[in-house]
Amino acid sequence: MRSVIPDYLTEALAEVAPDVSGQLAGYIPELAAADPGRLGVVFATLDGKIYGAGDVDAEFTIQSISKPFAYALALADRGFDPVLAKIGVEPSGEAFNEISLESGSGRPLNPMINAGALTAHSLAGSREWDPAGRVERVIDGLSAFAGRQLSIDERVYASEMEHAHRNLAIAHMLRSYDVLTEDPQAVVDGYTRQCSVLVTVRDLAMMAATLANRGVNPVSGEQVVGERVVRQVLSVMATCGMYDSAGDWATQVGIPAKSGVSGGLIGALPGQIGIATLSARLDAHGNSVRGVTLFERFSSDMGLHVMEVPPSARAVVRSNHVVGGGPHAVRVFQLQGGIRFAGAERIVREVLDTAPPEVAVALDLTMVYSIDDVARRMLLEVARRLTVDHHEVFLIDPEALVPDPEPGDGGRVTVVEDLEQAVRSVTARSTGHEPAPGSPGDEGREVPREQP
Ligand code: GLU
Repeated sequence: MRSVIPDYLTEALAEVAPDVSGQLAGYIPELAAADPGRLGVVFATLDGKIYGAGDVDAEFTIQSISKPFAYALALADRGFDPVLAKIGVEPSGEAFNEISLESGSGRPLNPMINAGALTAHSLAGSREWDPAGRVERVIDGLSAFAGRQLSIDERVYASEMEHAHRNLAIAHMLRSYDVLTEDPQAVVDGYTRQCSVLVTVRDLAMMAATLANRGVNPVSGEQVVGERVVRQVLSVMATCGMYDSAGDWATQVGIPAKSGVSGGLIGALPGQIGIATLSARLDAHGNSVRGVTLFERFSSDMGLHVMEVPPSARAVVRSNHVVGGGPHAVRVFQLQGGIRFAGAERIVREVLDTAPPEVAVALDLTMVYSIDDVARRMLLEVARRLTVDHHEVFLIDPEALVPDPEPGDGGRVTVVEDLEQAVRSVTARSTGHEPAPGSPGDEGREVPREQP
């Protein structure tokens, strides 16, 4: 059977195709000559599946969409403090090429306007590198996000350099404040090369999916940048990614995004999907007219807004019941889904409210697919407190979601593969065929010892 998604994408393109409003970016002559009819969209899933419609493999220059990725590279290469000292994270509300800096410090307001992007470019790679080495680092970094080697369109680069007066003015101003500490001309040159990297809609969707996938490229499996960097970049995209229409975008579309003057637009929905579109005619803010319409439609059709509230954590406790009777009784808390703080809080409350009279208590993770650090710690603390209250605690964890179940200080859990194993262990012990609870034995995978 044919997937429903390409059909949906084809239909979405057909709907926006007649809209010929907007203008091509006129200030870079090569961009003014782009084909305004090109229209494409790609969805890239976090396990590497690509769904596309229209012009998905047509190449065009990345322009400002390179900015979040170059910022990510600067953060990864230099660390947060040096980068944050030079580039703010406040939306400017001004046009992308406005010649404005934070009063006093001369710091660019954010890395998505040109002043911040020029500075971010200067911070990619190691401090000792020359401008050519830095450009190479940026192109290789963008390529790692895309999962294939990218290259520069020399004509677009040359065309933009001939008219780069405004970016040169910004760079000289940054130099005067010592935000840039080197030849401003070389930084503009490198930044313009960065903007002239050729990509396709498919590449852009994959780059967005890499951000949505915590920095891991879904196809190559490479961890391109760390999770902390991704969080920073997505936050800045969410607040500053859409030129001076960031507020409208945040409320109507609600997907961390970045647009570029060549008509590309990307959206990275954390944990779900990377999306990219291409259509060259731009609105008054510099965003692709048809791209914005497409994203508005995707967001509302598929509930992709990041502020769309997920189902409440209540469902984390699937059931709370007793198996067996008398001395063999096991209280089972069957858990499900993905557990984070709010889910763990539900579990803590359920266990406390139940105050199980049974000695044996099983926390069943069989139907849990993920558990984050804080939830894991809270679960182990529940186990520890149950042990201190004279319970024997089983963790049913066939997929080792809690790989090192060490509840600490007086706590003890016996990890088993399934409920049956826990029941067997309790039955064997109460009929005198098994060593004392908590002792290593063939029933449990691992039994951390009580502290002396
Ligand atoms: N190279 C372009 C510039 O710096 C990129 C602008 C953009 O895409 O917003 O002016």
